[in-house]
Amino acid sequence: MRWNGVIQKYRSYLPFDEDVQIISLNEGNTPLIKADRLAEIIAPKANLQLYLKYEGLNPTGSFKDRGMTAAITQAVHEGAKTVICASTGNTAASAAAYAARAGLRCLVLVPEGKIALGKLAASLAYGAEVISIDGSFDDGLDMVREIVERQPIALVNSVNPWRLEGQKTGAFEIIDQLDGRSPDWHCLPVGNAGNISAYWMGYKQYDKGRPRILGGQAAGSAPIVTGKVVEKPETIATAIRIGNPARWRQALEALDESGGIITAVTDDDILASWNLLAKTEGVFVEPASATGIAALKQQIEMGAIDPTNKTAVCILTGHGLKDPGTAVAQATDPHTLPATIEALEKYLAGS
Ligand SMILES: *Cc1c(COP(=O)(O)O)cnc(C)c1O
Repeated sequence: MRWNGVIQKYRSYLPFDEDVQIISLNEGNTPLIKADRLAEIIAPKANLQLYLKYEGLNPTGSFKDRGMTAAITQAVHEGAKTVICASTGNTAASAAAYAARAGLRCLVLVPEGKIALGKLAASLAYGAEVISIDGSFDDGLDMVREIVERQPIALVNSVNPWRLEGQKTGAFEIIDQLDGRSPDWHCLPVGNAGNISAYWMGYKQYDKGRPRILGGQAAGSAPIVTGKVVEKPETIATAIRIGNPARWRQALEALDESGGIITAVTDDDILASWNLLAKTEGVFVEPASATGIAALKQQIEMGAIDPTNKTAVCILTGHGLKDPGTAVAQATDPHTLPATIEALEKYLAGS
């Protein structure tokens, strides 16, 4: 059967009216990649069955498209002409694309200077009105929450319940791709905590087994781990640079009900996992996306998770090309050689 996006595929699990006009870019159906080399590094000789859910292969390069197809479909159904969101970048790019497809006006508020280049470029290309505010993501979210009370504009942040409805399809897909079984551990980065909440909703609703949830936050931006709002969150993983998550309560519920763990990992740990992922498995993600792997590695090393004969899925939330700046900054300069075969042979010989 042709793939026409997550709403069509999982329609019977989603509370849409009969007559909605679906706005889709054929999102979802992302690969679940078995990562044997990486598994052997983070859990030697444990027979850990490690899988990577590569959400960076969605139409705008992040998992946000799963929720956005649902939010924009419902906004159009309710007659919206304008949508708005605050974003660390990926929500903006996704909202901009789906709004373009639906013919809606789209405004996005982003924290000044803290949004990765690929996300900004895409949002502008899709025709969104990008507004840079001299504040954080959290400030932007406060602003958009208030403006939609005053103006006839639809809010498409993950405080919008339709976002979670769409995003929960990620859990359905994982179970389908594992031939009807749930993994033992489900590992993912946690920022505004929409995704962790959505996945847990999805696992519960599909009712084919439940994993334990492992959430990773960046150490400089770890409100759920510390139990305190972070006024000035800092991390290289800009997608999870959030100090006061909107879905905090649901995240705690998911952790509690699943017997899960939430932990903080340093930027160095995040970058080490980001690097390992690309170099051992050929999978290039944006830094935030490596946080689930960094958290799993840390918990195995600490003895808090026994990987023996377990199945773990790590959600790789966004594509590496989203944040070319960080990738280039981490890279060494290319070798330069004269354009001759002799020079190349000499280089190969290591002199
Ligand atoms: C949005 C995002 C996250 C965080 O997801 P939340 O639902 O905000 O917790 C993580 N990684 C990437 C790449 C994202 O775009």
